[in-house]
Amino acid sequence: MTEYLTRLNPEQRAAVETVDGPLLVLAGAGTGKTRVLTTRFAHILMTRRAFPNQVLAVTFTNKAAREMRERVAAILGQPAEGLWLGTFHALCARMLRRHADLVGLTSNFSILDTDDQMRLLKQVMDAAGVDMKRWPPQGLMAIIQRWKDRGLTPARITAAEDSDFAGNRARALYAEYQERLKQLNATDFGDLMLHMTEILRTHQDVLANYHRSFRYILVDEYQDTNTVQYLWLRLLAQRPNQAERNICCVGDDDQSIYSWRGAEIENILRFEKDFPGATIVRLESNYRSTAPILAAASGLIAKNSGRLGKTLRPGRNDAKGDKVRVVSLWDSEEEARMVGSRIEAARRSGDNLSETAILVRAGFQTRAFEERMITLGIPYRVVGGQKFYERAEIRDAMAYLRVLNQPADDLAFERIVNTPKRGLGDTAIRAMHDVARAEQRPLLVAAWRLIETGALRPKPRAALRELLEAFARWREMLPKDGHVVVAATLLDESGYTEMWKQDKSPEAPGRLDNLKELVRALGEFETLAGFLEHVALVMENDENAEGERVSLMTLHAAKGLEFDSVFLPGWEEGLFPHQRALDEGGEKGLEEERRLAYVGITRARKRCVISHAANRRIYANWTSQIPSRFLDELPPDQVVVEGGAGAERQRLLNQPSAFGNGQFPLVARKPRIIEAGSWEVNERPARAAALPQGARVFHQKFGYGRVVAVDDNKLDVEFDKAGRKRVLDTFVEKA
Ligand code: ATP
Ligand code: MG
Repeated sequence: MTEYLTRLNPEQRAAVETVDGPLLVLAGAGTGKTRVLTTRFAHILMTRRAFPNQVLAVTFTNKAAREMRERVAAILGQPAEGLWLGTFHALCARMLRRHADLVGLTSNFSILDTDDQMRLLKQVMDAAGVDMKRWPPQGLMAIIQRWKDRGLTPARITAAEDSDFAGNRARALYAEYQERLKQLNATDFGDLMLHMTEILRTHQDVLANYHRSFRYILVDEYQDTNTVQYLWLRLLAQRPNQAERNICCVGDDDQSIYSWRGAEIENILRFEKDFPGATIVRLESNYRSTAPILAAASGLIAKNSGRLGKTLRPGRNDAKGDKVRVVSLWDSEEEARMVGSRIEAARRSGDNLSETAILVRAGFQTRAFEERMITLGIPYRVVGGQKFYERAEIRDAMAYLRVLNQPADDLAFERIVNTPKRGLGDTAIRAMHDVARAEQRPLLVAAWRLIETGALRPKPRAALRELLEAFARWREMLPKDGHVVVAATLLDESGYTEMWKQDKSPEAPGRLDNLKELVRALGEFETLAGFLEHVALVMENDENAEGERVSLMTLHAAKGLEFDSVFLPGWEEGLFPHQRALDEGGEKGLEEERRLAYVGITRARKRCVISHAANRRIYANWTSQIPSRFLDELPPDQVVVEGGAGAERQRLLNQPSAFGNGQFPLVARKPRIIEAGSWEVNERPARAAALPQGARVFHQKFGYGRVVAVDDNKLDVEFDKAGRKRVLDTFVEKA
């Protein structure tokens, strides 16, 4: 009956069998924290300590909840029904349906999506006469969300805590927004936690009921809980009889990667204070990764300060394994080709595609890999997000490009005619449709007709004229300036990029990056029409194919998951560590990025391939990229440095001295820049022209020097400071 316990090591087993009283499992990646939690769940049921509906289990994603449900069922030998198992939000939504009346809602309340939330907030601001040009609603939304993350209802915010938004009016506007939600019998996402916590705080009878029913509480990924989640957990766990406070949290401070969403690492420290006498269990054997992968990850995270400190050692029998590979490539396209061909080779040798993942730092990075997968016919899925060309901002931008290419594309025209908002209301759009139908002409022609006949009121009329004239202008630019410059110009002049720049939601910067990536993608095609056709084909790619698929996702979405092979592309300064994290978070931001790198490497069981490109066109212009500082922080003896597909890199493999430990190639070559609005467009950098013997050169790492010998593309350089080195000609420039 206790066969399931034999699959645990002694420490894990102790964590499972210490069922009563508060317990904190603090342990590194892959040490079996989630396995402990799942087994503990099953153990509680198997030993009849509780009925299935008397255990509350919190996971970080719905996917993790599904997996836990399956694993519990497998141990029980029967499907597990009626479990309180899910994410914080899912659990709170379910509870709130029962107690909705306590916060002035009825049980069938609706949960607004972000668009509806914004619309409502704008109404509130409008009614209060707030100048929304000066005080963008997105800014207020961010403030409100932060308050909700901290469990603060309007009544709990003191005047001193009010934000200076719109002249200290944030708190009042927040209160009004909550009032309007109530009138609509609706909540926003943050309200689910907020309302439920408030109910537990203020209704002793409700809390007492939950204390009776939830005998055991289990929490995964505890390091990423925010304040309101913590309060909610603490309320539920602090049962009147101290001996019955059976809460078990598992987490890893080194994997705390959601501080930007209000997660408080301090919650780990608070645990011991709030639950005196808590047992702390540490797990130290990593069962997931091979020894070199684990050593590489451990070496990297050791650079962080302020860690709680944990031991982590290989626990697998096959502890040898491949070293972590670091592949240096010429540009981002070569990087996508490298990843694609390795996956293809692995597939040919019989590897399961579902055991492969590509983990990126920023959402826009998926595009290059998606296209590579499609070209190679490798099925893939984007986990925790949308495929690149399905993202809303990309669809909008594509609609502009479609109208540019084909003015009769009515569907595209309708999508963007009032995006961004130009004051073209339903009336104007209906009028356009009427004319189009009557005259059997495209909408765009009908729009001209409306302008000419004066059928519209002056404001929408002027807005429409401006848009149509702009399209005519962009179309005229096409032959001379080329589709890349026109696309960049169009996104700027139409006000579309501005719309996202004004947006202060956490997703907005990612959307802007996606738009830049779209312009970049355009550059890979000769013509606009060619690009549009390509995208149409990409979109048609079989969505519902069953079977094995490569997973593409952000590092944030990969928490808790594991794969045999993991690709970690784009390890370049500014991209990873991400510039925004550095700008906004300073040293703390850098440490969180490093934790993200740690999460990335520790997802791999057998193979981990990190790559960086020397050139990348992020802002529609080619820039030379500096390899990520994290590469230099990897312990050199756990890493093999490889070249990409280029022949010179193959040669490089035989030349470790040129490239030794931690010396990653730097490319410094100024690309030519063409101005196009606020966008910069330039040409892909050519590889270096030969540098003759005697030439004075500059190398980013070694500084100035003089070429003393030339051997094909390798140069022997006498550097002023660093002495004589053999370097690749592509990594030096004429001084
Ligand atoms: P993370 O910090 O990434 O969430 P974790 O600590 O939750 O990791 P698990 O996902 O539970 O770790 O376990 C990692 C891997 O090791 C899983 O494949 C799991 O099945 C396996 N594993 C855990 N404990 C043992 C054990 N005692 N013997 C063999 N394999 C184990
Ligand atoms: Mg886990």
